[in-house]
Amino acid sequence: MPNPDNSTALIVGASRGLGLALAAEYLHRGWRVIATVRGSGRTRLHELAASAGGRLEVETVDINIRDEVARLRARLHGRTIDLLFVNAGIAIDPGQSINDVGTDAFVRMMVTNALSPMRVIEAFESLVPATGTIAAMSSDLGSVSANTDGGWEAYRASKAALNTLMRSFAARHAGDPRALVLMAPGWVRTDMGGPDAELTIEESIPRVVDTLSAQAGHAGLRYLDYRGQTVPW
Ligand code: NAP
Repeated sequence: MPNPDNSTALIVGASRGLGLALAAEYLHRGWRVIATVRGSGRTRLHELAASAGGRLEVETVDINIRDEVARLRARLHGRTIDLLFVNAGIAIDPGQSINDVGTDAFVRMMVTNALSPMRVIEAFESLVPATGTIAAMSSDLGSVSANTDGGWEAYRASKAALNTLMRSFAARHAGDPRALVLMAPGWVRTDMGGPDAELTIEESIPRVVDTLSAQAGHAGLRYLDYRGQTVPW
């Protein structure tokens, strides 16, 4: 597909799962993509880069390591990022109630799913132009008001924290023309979503990208699912 604006996406956390599929989908739509992995091992993102005709740059960052975030920011100095999408996230022992979850697991989920994505957004937002979009991968489970069934308690709390922190970012940037999106991709068959999830990656990610594309140029924060529908806070 044509990309007349030569747009660039930065997708953080793209070694596998939804992030890898996001990178592939933006390439398919003609974008230039900068996508990140952790560590020095070869991943499926590297395989994708080999067939991307130079439009995919593989970068490295662990979002929980501030020096690595700062070094990536320095490497991308001067670049324009039309879409900044922080996708990285973890779920540790999601079946455990808050009574059972270990303190270390709780802290790791809160840091990886809420604090670190916001630190990445704070570090990179100045590269996103007025026409651009800043997104973070949330979840339907991040909705406080829709939590009537419980389950995934600590993970839910971390995505609710991400949503609240993104609202604070939006409040601090009132009047900012950029689109801000918290995305709920649906329950998807990945390492995290598991084999019983409702959706294949192919059923989710193209619609995630359609939804994000529809937000471009619309100022302010929205919490949307992969079908473009508003998720209640
Ligand atoms: P996944 O298959 O487990 O992939 C997680 C990705 O995040 C991997 O690329 C992983 O890199 C990366 N990551 C984890 N910790 C990181 C860190 N500290 N720094 C940098 N990258 C890190 O999960 P997924 O299903 O694709 O989920 C992607 C996002 O969607 C997550 O935020 C998740 O919470 C959210 N989500 C998923 C579903 C679902 O049903 N699958 C539903 C709602 C929301 P490594 O390969 O190095 O570990």
